[in-house]
Amino acid sequence: MKLIRLPALSDNYIWLLCDENKHCVIIDPAESQPVIDILAASQLIPVAILLTHHHHDHVGGVAGLLKQHPKLPVYGPEETQSKGATHIVHENDLIETGHFSFQVIALPGHTLGHIAFYQAPYLFCGDTLFSAGCGRLFEGTAEQMFSSLGKIASLPDETLICCAHEYTAANMEFALAVLPENQTIRDYYKKIIALREKDQATVPTTLKKEKKINVFLNCHDIDLQKNIGIKPNSIPLYSVFQQLRAYKDRF
Ligand SMILES: [Zn+2]
Repeated sequence: MKLIRLPALSDNYIWLLCDENKHCVIIDPAESQPVIDILAASQLIPVAILLTHHHHDHVGGVAGLLKQHPKLPVYGPEETQSKGATHIVHENDLIETGHFSFQVIALPGHTLGHIAFYQAPYLFCGDTLFSAGCGRLFEGTAEQMFSSLGKIASLPDETLICCAHEYTAANMEFALAVLPENQTIRDYYKKIIALREKDQATVPTTLKKEKKINVFLNCHDIDLQKNIGIKPNSIPLYSVFQQLRAYKDRF
């Protein structure tokens, strides 16, 4: 398998996963032109589009791609039906096409219908988990999002987190504000700043790395709880998450 990361719009990534026969699936096409260009340049044959949720910067390229490839199946949650999805999928569904086999994982929180597509080691998780961050709560509750992040955290450590935005530098600044003494976070922050200065991408990341540097996966951390003004272990972890997410929204 070959993973291709296409920058799109201001800070989106469109992902393509390709097999050895040059068949590929396209995940969250924010726009069509960069995809059309790479399909032509690399002589790739698209076999499916996968949509994680209904936001425009994830589905904006569907119509343009279908114009060129009218029979291309588009898999997505119910909320993407009006955005071009032709096959509605649910938790635990398997999408099997060619050499691909994706498991659908329901991840409500950022939107209510948000899903991820998992084919080990690749996880296409849209706007749920970012490197060093997580998506905003536009539709779901903090409890739902916390549980969705827990589902991701239960996958193998070597899982490749293919998220849909380049937000890592800003997220690491927040991580430093929350855990200023954490040496792993301090070191990783420097690495990310150096990468971004050279205009290089910081994703995909691994679940193993995220468990170390992503504060939203570390709500159980006593220092984190203290630093955001919570008496350690005095409230449920999803409430810690809720306060942490609210703090990030104001940050
Ligand atoms: Zn979104």
